[in-house]
Amino acid sequence: MRVIRSVKTMQRLASQSRRQGRRVGFVPTMGALHEGHFSLMRRCRRENDLTVVSIFVNPAQFSPAEDFKAYPRPAKADQRLAGKAGVDILFYPSDKGMYPDPYRTYIEVEKMTEGLCGKFRPGHFKGVATVVGKLLNIVQPDVLYLGQKDAQQAAVLKQMVRDLNFPVAVKVCPIVRGPDGTALSSRHVYLTPQERRQAAVLFRSLQEAQKKIQSGERSLAAIVQGIRRRILKETSGKIDYVECVNAQTLEPLSSLEGKIMIALAVRFGPTRLIDNRVVQVR
Ligand code: AMP
Repeated sequence: MRVIRSVKTMQRLASQSRRQGRRVGFVPTMGALHEGHFSLMRRCRRENDLTVVSIFVNPAQFSPAEDFKAYPRPAKADQRLAGKAGVDILFYPSDKGMYPDPYRTYIEVEKMTEGLCGKFRPGHFKGVATVVGKLLNIVQPDVLYLGQKDAQQAAVLKQMVRDLNFPVAVKVCPIVRGPDGTALSSRHVYLTPQERRQAAVLFRSLQEAQKKIQSGERSLAAIVQGIRRRILKETSGKIDYVECVNAQTLEPLSSLEGKIMIALAVRFGPTRLIDNRVVQVR
C-alpha cells in the first residue's frame, strides 16, 4: 500500500492510472477505521483495479462547537488496517494541503441540506460537499463508495455529482451494525459503557417501527412518537430529531406511503449518533 500525503502527487498518480485504463474506486473517510469502512473498501476492491482510500478529518464540516479537535485520529492503527484491507493507495492530506491559505471556494447543495441533520449542524453539508468535490477532482475516481449510515450525506453527494457533472458513479453501501444492532461509528469511542449499551435502543426502536408499519400501522405520528418514547424511556440520550422522510428526496412526509426512510439523531453527552431504516410501505 502506498501512503500519499501530497495533493499534487495524488493527482498525478490518479491521472496516470486513468491513462493506463485502470478503473479507480474511491472511499473517502475520516479515519478511526472500523468494519463499516472496511465493507466499503471490500466492495471497492471487488469492483475496481485500484482502490484509493482517503483519511481526512475535514475541518470545514465541523462547527466551532463540535468535536473537530477531539475526533479520534489513530493514524498508525488506521494505516495498518488499511494495508490489511488491501487498499492500494491511502491518501492522507494535511489541512493546509486541502485548504491552502487563503481558501475561498465552497459547494452548497440547496434544500436537501436544510432538514434532518442540516437543521442541527449548520454549515456541515457545505463542508462535506466541498471536501468531497475537492477529493473527486484530486483522486478522479470512476466510482465513489458511500455508506447508507450517513443517508443524508449520500443523498446530498449524489445530487452534487449530478448537478456539477462529476464523471463518477456513486454507490451507496448498506449499514454495517454491531452484534447489538448499533450502526458502527467512529464516535463510539467517546461513549461510556452504559451509553454504548443504550445506543442499541436506537436500532431497536427503528426495527420496532418497521414491524409496526409492516403490521399495518399507517399513522406517521404514532410511528415517530413510539420511537421517541422508547428512546426517552430506555436511554439518557437527548433526541435531536426522529423523522419520516421520502427515502430518495429526503422531503418530510405527510403520510406513510412508498419508499420511506425513518431517520434519527440522538446525543449522548457530546456524542451525536445517527441511524436510519428504509421501509417500503405497501
Ligand atoms: P466517516 O469516516 O464517518 O466519514 O465515514 C466514511 C464513509 O464510511 C461514509 O461514506 C460513511 O457513510 C461510511 N460508514 C461509516 N460508518 C458506516 C457503517 N456503520 N456502515 C456503513 N457505512 C459506514
